[in-house]
Amino acid sequence: MVETQANSQSILVVGGGISGVTAALEAAEAGYDVVLIEKNPYLGGRVAQFYHYFPKLCPPTCGLEINFRRLKQNPRVRFFTMAELVKVSGEPGNYDVTIKLSPRYVNEKCTCCGKCAEVCEAEIDNPFNFGMDKIKAAYLPHEFAFPMRYVLDPSIIGTDEAKKCQEACEYGAIDLDMQESTFDLKVGAIIWAAGWNPYDASKIEYYGFGQYKNVITNVMMERLASPNGPTGGKIVRPSDGKEVKNVAFIQCAGSRDENHLPYCSGICCLASMKHATYIREQYPDCEVTIFFIDIRALDRLEDFYVKVEQDEKVHFVKSKIAYITEDEETGNLTVEGENTRTGEQIRMTFDMVVLATGMVPNKMNGVAPPEVIYDDYGFILLDPEKAGIYGAGCTRRPTDVATCVQDATAAALKAIQSIARR
Ligand SMILES: Cc1cc2nc3c(=O)[nH]c(=O)nc-3n(C[C@H](O)[C@H](O)[C@H](O)COP(=O)(O)OP(=O)(O)OC[C@H]3O[C@@H](n4cnc5c(N)ncnc54)[C@H](O)[C@@H]3O)c2cc1C
Ligand code: SF4
Ligand code: SF4
Repeated sequence: MVETQANSQSILVVGGGISGVTAALEAAEAGYDVVLIEKNPYLGGRVAQFYHYFPKLCPPTCGLEINFRRLKQNPRVRFFTMAELVKVSGEPGNYDVTIKLSPRYVNEKCTCCGKCAEVCEAEIDNPFNFGMDKIKAAYLPHEFAFPMRYVLDPSIIGTDEAKKCQEACEYGAIDLDMQESTFDLKVGAIIWAAGWNPYDASKIEYYGFGQYKNVITNVMMERLASPNGPTGGKIVRPSDGKEVKNVAFIQCAGSRDENHLPYCSGICCLASMKHATYIREQYPDCEVTIFFIDIRALDRLEDFYVKVEQDEKVHFVKSKIAYITEDEETGNLTVEGENTRTGEQIRMTFDMVVLATGMVPNKMNGVAPPEVIYDDYGFILLDPEKAGIYGAGCTRRPTDVATCVQDATAAALKAIQSIARR
């Protein structure tokens, strides 16, 4: 039986990324009880997977850790990982919700000693690194995971591997009898902060993602550059582990395109500029070419663009790239298209190509009551007449972390107001 202090004065926050954590903390610090649920085994969302933040180029772990400390210190927030919202009924000020908990098979006694992983021979694709490496099926999701606790992958449950892990655990932390469970809550308001997924680059067939090993996506680049990533932070070609000498970025990969994502994701120009700094930091001689349609870097972020542009080894080419082909022997990639400034044809060869794919919002599929409405692209809109469920962060629009934090604070205030009005 799960115990919370939740009632119709409480707020449910769905999604434990930067937006959800911010909304939960702001509401709790204003005196409201909050239940925060996250479907991953850890909090932090996409930001936890980044090497650095633009524009300051600092590691995101600092900001996340401050928030996790605030969470630990605030008894008004109860959070659940591996938890999803499966049912919502009721009305603003008085919702009944059902939450599903998936089994982790590891309880709070886990000390992260790692003995279970040592004896476990079964491996899985590492979800944190977008499958670029393998991890043991008994694993810590990443080294800064919060909560800091191991997980057993469901694929080994019922096998000898799981029993071996349990026997290796001196702390009685592995419980192979854990089952999926649900619990019900009454809450007054809901904040939907379930964030975004990267656009599926394999749908952009003419760029060969999934077919050519050295075509990667921008989110994979974050993991390649991270010290806790699949290569220990060394940016190398996936096909042969070679150092890179000449890297291309293709902007708007599948974005601003009626056949894929019709909208601009707003941050992927800046993300590629940030990635150019990752490469240049490691390889003083490496050439970087950014093929762009338009550069989106507004307000104070324009300064970051100006700074990256000053690097003589980073080239910005206004263009439309039609397709990529691969030399099977070398793994090199030829990019073809048109320079839209000069009208000249482009045919250039690179070691590696990074596709700057956009952000797809996670919708309240299957659980959204009628008052939840979306724009044409799937981002939540607010109907002030019926408000009680509020979107926060990238469920409302694709944007950067600073804007998500402001937006989540606003969502917390709106949720509080909707409860106070009843
Ligand atoms: C390549 C790239 C680089 C970027 N770099 C930067 C940068 O340097 N600086 C910057 O400011 N911004 C950057 N961004 C933007 C940044 O990623 C977003 O602003 C940020 O992730 C938004 O946070 P969020 O909490 O709204 O969403 P997310 O980070 O997506 O968090 C949402 C959370 O909700 C969880 N969730 C999803 N569905 C459910 C469900 N049904 N139930 C429960 N939980 C659920 C998810 O597991 C996740 O933990 C970058 C984006 C990209 C694509
Ligand atoms: S589950 Fe047990 S063996 Fe595995 S890391 Fe935790 S305490 Fe160690
Ligand atoms: S931010 Fe840049 S790369 Fe991303 S969709 Fe907009 S214009 Fe294209």
